[in-house]
Amino acid sequence: MKYETESGSFYNYLGTGCKFCREGAKMVLFVTGLCHRGCFYCPVSEEKRQNDVTFANERPVLSDEDILYEAHSMQALGTGITGGEPLLVLERVLGYIRLLKDEFGPEHHIHLYTASTPAREILEQLHSAGLDEIRFHPDMDTWGRLDCSDLAASIEEAKTVGLDVGIEIPSLPGAQHVADFALERSIFLNLNELEFSQTNSQAMKQHGFSTVNDEGCAVAGSRETAEGIMERCAGLHVNFCSSSFKDRVQLRKRLLRTAQTTAREFDEVTPDGTLLYGVVEGEVESIIGLLEQLDVPGNLYECTRDRVELGWWVLEDIADEFDSGSSAWYEECYPTYSRMVVEKIPIDNADAFNV
Ligand code: SF4
Repeated sequence: MKYETESGSFYNYLGTGCKFCREGAKMVLFVTGLCHRGCFYCPVSEEKRQNDVTFANERPVLSDEDILYEAHSMQALGTGITGGEPLLVLERVLGYIRLLKDEFGPEHHIHLYTASTPAREILEQLHSAGLDEIRFHPDMDTWGRLDCSDLAASIEEAKTVGLDVGIEIPSLPGAQHVADFALERSIFLNLNELEFSQTNSQAMKQHGFSTVNDEGCAVAGSRETAEGIMERCAGLHVNFCSSSFKDRVQLRKRLLRTAQTTAREFDEVTPDGTLLYGVVEGEVESIIGLLEQLDVPGNLYECTRDRVELGWWVLEDIADEFDSGSSAWYEECYPTYSRMVVEKIPIDNADAFNV
């Protein structure tokens, strides 16, 4: 049975990892940018590529506490371990799996992507640490001859040690060979819609790819490749994850989970999962003095760096009270580590937002 979503993804099977991901409840743990491959479609950013850096979602990880803080702030129900090639830093991966299972219990679902073909000993270590699911990413050059590759043996070992096993690749011409291989081994296949990114666009063009339209970054033909596979391979467990599904559904739900957990008493959580509040910039002491004079409760504002943030409705009521040495506006930001500002809205244009 084929299920389709409004944002263009479709599937006849969802691995447990994907179910949590669809709810925006999976934390992305990027364990290292180091990688032995050089896939032309690699979307890893310049900041991370071939750098041994770790991020939990977009939060830089300098200690275990950073990972736990991020997982709690988004109410994570699971974690996807990615890179780079995670198994180049095996001990780190094992440590993080144990850390997450100790903190959140065995039900915190963890899956791992790998472009390598680990031997049984490594698979056993991963499973004993608590890994639930492994997704192999075979080199595109080998897609037509997977039967005689190391991947076949690694998949069988992964199954016997007790891991859920699948293959995850971009939906590209040639993926049909991988689908046949997955079907023979009764493992699931995740196809990601191929996307242009800042780091791969030149190589993608050189390989003859173009985008579906001018607005998006999805590659023309990627979806059709996945549709062809699903039609042809009856019995294969397939999930096609579209570019717009990742942006519109997964990301939005993750932002909402984070916003609901991290919003201050005066932040308004928008339906997009962003935070809306008011800002007054100027002489902070006199701004605070004025707020006290106006009997604004202390839980409705906060002094941050060189400015005061407060409930947008509070600002709406008292905006006229500030002198010309201050400037005020409404602000919408992501509830994430960077708190990137989405929009600054002038106070005389409150109708511009609709919460
Ligand atoms: S295996 Fe993954 S991280 Fe490594 S080059 Fe390929 S796409 Fe990039």
